[in-house]
Amino acid sequence: MVDTAPFDVISAGLAEVHGQFLPVTDGEVASYIPKLALADPNDFGLALVSMDGHRYQAGRSQVPFSIQSVAKPFVYALALAELGLDEIHRWVGNEPSGDAFNAISLERGTGRPANPMINAGAIATTDLVPADSPEERFARVLEGLSAFAGHRLEVDEEVYRSESATGDRNRALAYLMHAAGSLRTEPRAAVETYFRQCAVRVNTVDLAVMAATLATGGVNPVTGRTVVPERVAVQVLAVMATCGMYDAAGDWLVRVGLPAKSGVSGGLAAASPGRFGLACYSPPLDPTGSPVRAVAALREVSRRLGLHLMQPPAPGPATVTACTTAEHWPPAADRPPQERELLARGARRIALVAARGELDFTAVERVLYALASVAPDRPGWLVLDLAEVMWVRPTARTMLTAALARVTAAGHRVCVVTGAEPYGHGELTTGAEVRGSRADAVAWAEDGLVGESAGLRKSTD
Ligand code: GLN
Repeated sequence: MVDTAPFDVISAGLAEVHGQFLPVTDGEVASYIPKLALADPNDFGLALVSMDGHRYQAGRSQVPFSIQSVAKPFVYALALAELGLDEIHRWVGNEPSGDAFNAISLERGTGRPANPMINAGAIATTDLVPADSPEERFARVLEGLSAFAGHRLEVDEEVYRSESATGDRNRALAYLMHAAGSLRTEPRAAVETYFRQCAVRVNTVDLAVMAATLATGGVNPVTGRTVVPERVAVQVLAVMATCGMYDAAGDWLVRVGLPAKSGVSGGLAAASPGRFGLACYSPPLDPTGSPVRAVAALREVSRRLGLHLMQPPAPGPATVTACTTAEHWPPAADRPPQERELLARGARRIALVAARGELDFTAVERVLYALASVAPDRPGWLVLDLAEVMWVRPTARTMLTAALARVTAAGHRVCVVTGAEPYGHGELTTGAEVRGSRADAVAWAEDGLVGESAGLRKSTD
């Protein structure tokens, strides 16, 4: 069997980060939920799940723990998928509260909680999941969380009972919201459903799969199942970025720059959109209720891999590989002398731009700038060779389609070279000719020029 370990720099990197922060012993294990106080402060697991669903892990990544607040963004996603942002926003805000996770952050007058990542907002969000009874509601929540994790999750009944026996503060929050009209159902039942949701058992790898499902845009990369629409995944990640780390959310966004959510049992899930889901488990917490080692480890991973959301993407390789006119290539030898002469005279009227790689906004701007620089001053023939373009992003497609329509309307004739294997070029060729090779496209342009000149000559004869 092939030894794949030498290729696995990801597990090696996680193991390094794990080793780096294992000696950290700061923080206190949560004890306000008595069962959580029994956690082993030495437990420390890391996991990363890629967009292809490959799982990488280090340390005690298989130790089970209750999900606690890390469930919040995922239940928010389920509620959003059912009801949409506008309806949810009537009941739960999107604003960072700057307060602790268990604070009474309710809007004056309406009683609306500040955001779905704090307890008040999460109780209200869970309560919005459509169902006819609290039992049915929890069943739907559990099913949704399981779809995010990619397998059937279960409730740690002891943790549930422990929190239910001591959770008066959350009950008080629910009663306050109910009195203000921002919680629709009976507060006691609403809080029990929320407690059960907090007690769902996961391990670090589960959390990384859940985060990866948001990072892909809602498709679980391990099971391939669409859990929520892409629009919802994007909205959830945005709220995680601004509110996921409670009163440390601003500092987290500045230093780590990833959407994340922590929980009092020691879990922390973060997503690098389009790259991977990342999770960490370590019970000792800092004063804001986030796991100390996990915060440090994720900050280190983000630094090493340059994951900060606000970091501009590295400039791609040169996009434009040719930008010229027919003046710069010899007329085809197989044409009769008369045609060659016509082509030589009108060579300025045939322009060619070729691009390669991936087309995004920047690349299309370069291509269009190049085309404009060689376009003839009266209507002519433009060859846009995209045969070496491997991918056209949606923004790029919108821009190119619009540009081709405008250029054609201005009287130019355009031919796009798509190559043997078009990668989403299809839809952007509206109004343009399409050829499989540059030679064929150039021949089309030359035929056009020869035809036009011959026609003109005939009419003046
Ligand atoms: N179940 C916990 C509570 O409501 C969750 C809090 C958290 O993880 N931050 O207090």
